[in-house]
Amino acid sequence: MKDLKLAARQGKENTVVPVEGVRFGEGFVLVAGPCTVETEKQTIETAIAVKKAGADALRGGAFKPRSSPYAFQGLGLKGLQILKKAKAETGLPIVTEVVDARDVFWVSEYADVLQIGARNMQNFSLLKEAGKSRKPVLLKRGMNSTIEEWLNCAEYVLSEGNPHVILCERGIRTFEKYTRNTLDLSAVPAIKELSHLPIVIDPSHATGKASLIPALCLAAVAAGADGLIIEVQVDPCQAMCDKDQTLSPEDFAAVAKKVRDLHRFMTDRP
Ligand code: PEP
Ligand code: MN
Repeated sequence: MKDLKLAARQGKENTVVPVEGVRFGEGFVLVAGPCTVETEKQTIETAIAVKKAGADALRGGAFKPRSSPYAFQGLGLKGLQILKKAKAETGLPIVTEVVDARDVFWVSEYADVLQIGARNMQNFSLLKEAGKSRKPVLLKRGMNSTIEEWLNCAEYVLSEGNPHVILCERGIRTFEKYTRNTLDLSAVPAIKELSHLPIVIDPSHATGKASLIPALCLAAVAAGADGLIIEVQVDPCQAMCDKDQTLSPEDFAAVAKKVRDLHRFMTDRP
């Protein structure tokens, strides 16, 4: 990986990405919230519930990169305003996706972390704008991308002067159809070898199935990930998008406790 000047490990200490009071790369960070911001009630009730269950930050898409142009594309500005209210209500920092380079500047007014989705991982103009914005960037791995391609995309953000990149493994495409994608957990120790950047796991898009998520959350902790980003909402059956992979706040609370216990067990050991 000779082209990596800034993302490469090269003996560097782990990078910590500060987001309000939350520190990605230190301890274990839980990000939770709906796939899509649909209504103020859904988002705020979910934010309160995930906060109570121990989440450190709220996720939620106001801009949705949908496979079909006819599918709901998100509430846009209205969605960002709802996220702002949810933050005011709970104190949780906001992780939200930006899909277009032209939106980076103004979306940064609402987002505490700019998410760049799997479908946009190699959108180089978007990466460069995100690099200029100075907001932390959560960079998802493309579903058809190698670790080397992914790290080169992180390099695009870093090379614009933004040192705050969080990598997110969200599953890659394989021949397996039972799961939505195949979670590449080996990416965690591989990234730790190759880079100093923090890495979180998204077990929701990796599996597409709520029942498989708790086991993979624990596996992510065991593999050495720095955190999780999980789709959770009140009344998951009503979710407009990704309902099969959305946890209820109760299920999230149960897995969050186990995750914290396992992380404590691992870090307390000599
Ligand atoms: C998301 O997190 O809302 C999302 C669309 O994920 P991905 O880009 O990983 O498909
Ligand atoms: Mn989703």
